[in-house]
Amino acid sequence: MRALSPPDPDEIPCGCLVFSGIDEPGNRLIRYANHYFSGQFGFAAEGLVGSPLSGLLTKASTVIFDAYVVPTVLHEGRCSEVLLELQTPTGSKCPVVVNARRHSADRTLIVLSLFDTTQRDTLYQELVETRRQLEEKATILQHLSTTDELTGLLNRRELHKRAAIMLAEARRYETSVAVLVVDIDHFKELNDTLGHAGGDKILAELGKRFREQGRLTDIVARYGGEEFVFVVPKMDEFCVWRFAQRLHKIASEVRVPGKVLTVSIGISLSHPRDDLLYEVLFMRADKALYAAKAAGRNRSLIFDFDAQEIGG
Ligand code: GH3
Ligand code: MG
Ligand code: MG
Repeated sequence: MRALSPPDPDEIPCGCLVFSGIDEPGNRLIRYANHYFSGQFGFAAEGLVGSPLSGLLTKASTVIFDAYVVPTVLHEGRCSEVLLELQTPTGSKCPVVVNARRHSADRTLIVLSLFDTTQRDTLYQELVETRRQLEEKATILQHLSTTDELTGLLNRRELHKRAAIMLAEARRYETSVAVLVVDIDHFKELNDTLGHAGGDKILAELGKRFREQGRLTDIVARYGGEEFVFVVPKMDEFCVWRFAQRLHKIASEVRVPGKVLTVSIGISLSHPRDDLLYEVLFMRADKALYAAKAAGRNRSLIFDFDAQEIGG
């Protein structure tokens, strides 16, 4: 097939500028601009030749042009894919990607090709925004999958996961861990007098107060309806007893019409050299809770095989 003769430069869909004054930053003059350039970017074709190149670029782009594009062309003969901004006659800014090279016939001239990247920039911004939204949704989903909606505490699945990690760490560093199972006393009666929504309010308030107390390393979860579980590292009997008293106090401060809110607490404690699974510690604490209920409620019991009472 016979090659065609080259197209007219005005027909090529790419802005083309030639300018002089390579060595004179303050005196770079446009010597040629194709019609595509003036049409695409809104410049009047007549006045372009002879006008200063700096008049086409934003201030920041002029700095990049003088400090990077021209020195690169002088040094390497060309400079590719530089992002600049044109200052158009309407006052708007137009992003362009610019390639520059020395004119092959006249080495004192530089030839530029300029491509409008407005659409690409818009697409890129959309992509960035979509990614931000996806990340935000992923964070929300992660939060929803690990927390209980009503109280904002960890849910049962997350409790098991984190407790297993805490127990593994405790074994490694030979420290002890306490598990406390907290159950509201006579909650059914509260539901009966205040209605289910009223009961929910109390659960949410108690959950919030439980969440706000304690250290960041403590695990605080809503285990079921009105049962909460705490898994607390580096505890001994004295500390865990004080901790349980604090939980009784917190519960008593939740405002409930006509009565004082009380809880029963079952506690189990691992010893530094124990090799106990979380499930075993939980089962022991649950047994202690059962004994605390049987002993009259509003108290804490610690499991030591005899479910010995430590306070309430
Ligand atoms: P006890 O002192 O023995 O713990 O008595 P209790 O009345 O608290 O008895 P139990 O623990 O068996 O009953 C818990 C009640 O909590 C039963 C159920 O109706 C209620 N409950 C469970 N989940 C929710 C919930 O999400 N919201 C509300 N409002 N009530 C719940
Ligand atoms: Mg209960
Ligand atoms: Mg219960």
